[in-house]
Amino acid sequence: STYGAAQDRYDTMEYRRCGTSGLLLPAISLGLWHNFGDLHPGSTQRAVLRRAFDRGITHFDLANNYGPPYGQAEINFGRILATDFKPYRDELIISSKAGYDMWPGPYGQGGGSRKYLIASCDQSLKRLGLDYVDIFYSHRFDPDTPLEETMRSLDRIVRSGRALYVGISSYDPEQTEKAAAIARDLGTPLLIHQPRYNMFDRWIEDGLVDTCEQEGMGIICFSPLAQGILTDKYLKGIPAQSRAGMGAVSLRPEQIDDATRAAVSALNEIAKDRDQTLAQMALSWILRDSRITSVIVGASSVPQLDSDLDALGATPFTDDERVNIESVLAD
Ligand code: NDP
Repeated sequence: STYGAAQDRYDTMEYRRCGTSGLLLPAISLGLWHNFGDLHPGSTQRAVLRRAFDRGITHFDLANNYGPPYGQAEINFGRILATDFKPYRDELIISSKAGYDMWPGPYGQGGGSRKYLIASCDQSLKRLGLDYVDIFYSHRFDPDTPLEETMRSLDRIVRSGRALYVGISSYDPEQTEKAAAIARDLGTPLLIHQPRYNMFDRWIEDGLVDTCEQEGMGIICFSPLAQGILTDKYLKGIPAQSRAGMGAVSLRPEQIDDATRAAVSALNEIAKDRDQTLAQMALSWILRDSRITSVIVGASSVPQLDSDLDALGATPFTDDERVNIESVLAD
């Protein structure tokens, strides 16, 4: 069926400024890492993407290797862009990345060389069917390539019209500071940092958030639900239709051990008292810091997405709730 976007799509989403840039991003963005390859039905993918845009999600996050197989998420998203979202291109922020292994031989193994980044960006544009992406990322720091080479490649990607903005993912505070200084000198300031951040992985509180603030960069967090662990879905076992149940390399059933389940269960009770689901509370908890621009959720169905989006507008945490959450996370 043909798609027309909901008239009221901008009525409830919250948009946050990305660092000191001119760009606003939705507080909740949608990521296409796991659920937009060959393992999930195309009809579900289309329904999730339509629903996301209908509820004000303007930002879709991709990378060269999202699938499976590698490249497939960009191909699938490109198809839906062409059929459904074409009239809305200027309402969308589409990102891609390069940094991990992608094609055979020394130039496709990832990292931050000029050869790899520019070729990979061109491949992504082709798969997506786009002239440019809105944000292009160096997906990870490469200790074997001069940072100047990586930053010059990002600068080139912007100046050649392949991307409007550039960012970095998972760089530590020191690497971030260096990268930001080089990029600023080149005249292409880094827009954004994309780190993992959730209740169970708080490494960015130890310096990175402050660094990004000093550099004027926004922060967009990946795996805000710890890939689904921060929901109630694994409390009673591993459902077959779940990331851990479907044999994902990134989420092994043994990662969901008894200690994790105990913590999830305690957090689930705190969430209930707040009239939120655990997933919603986990998102609200990240967004409590206004320096976080956005969280990227990875919903695999429309009901999941709808429920995640209902985290917006939740009541702020009371001091008691904060203390209770901290004590669960400290155990
Ligand atoms: P999440 O932590 O949001 O995990 C997503 C999973 O959580 C879903 O697949 C689903 O699991 C489950 N889930 C989501 N909502 C609900 C709900 N309401 N109820 C129950 N379960 C729910 O994020 P991801 O790990 O998927 O990462 C999000 C995005 O971040 C990626 O798509 C990608 O864009 C980006 N990313 C970036 C990385 C980087 O290196 N820069 C690395 C990893 C991710 P199920 O599938 O089992 O239904």
